[in-house]
Amino acid sequence: MGGRPHPTDRSDWDRLRAKVALDVMTGCWIWTASFYPDGYANFWFRGHGRRASRIAYELWKGSVPKDKEVLHNCDNPKCVNPSHLHIGTRAENQHEMVIRGRSNRGVDVNTNKLSEKEVLQIRKLSKCGESNGALAKKFSVTSTNIGFIVRGVTWKHLTEV
Ligand SMILES: [Zn+2]
Repeated sequence: MGGRPHPTDRSDWDRLRAKVALDVMTGCWIWTASFYPDGYANFWFRGHGRRASRIAYELWKGSVPKDKEVLHNCDNPKCVNPSHLHIGTRAENQHEMVIRGRSNRGVDVNTNKLSEKEVLQIRKLSKCGESNGALAKKFSVTSTNIGFIVRGVTWKHLTEV
């Protein structure tokens, strides 16, 4: 992790660190204090309730432009580990949620070209040793997409019967 919090921010940083629990599987710093109704961590900071992920990012990496949001690489809104955070726009945030299937399920997303049947087929073929590249070509999607499907990052709700 690059940089250190500015010395004057250290007590805020220590206060924030005291409210997290490390998830050893993911490296996520799971917030253990209060939360907003939307699931994001709430941190009392300089007289205001603020999003803890944003404060963690600001203390560790520097200020976040007002029109931007702090997004999670790990897709866990409870996480405040600065190395799991990046800056993006609200639109990018929504886009990422759709890609990861948090806000929508496969077939409801109009950018999703695959049917549930195809997704199951992809997983089956992958298990049989078909490469992501070959599957990507076969189903005309990117191999990144195939990787997400195979690893269950997308289409999480779909399980074989
Ligand atoms: Zn995380």
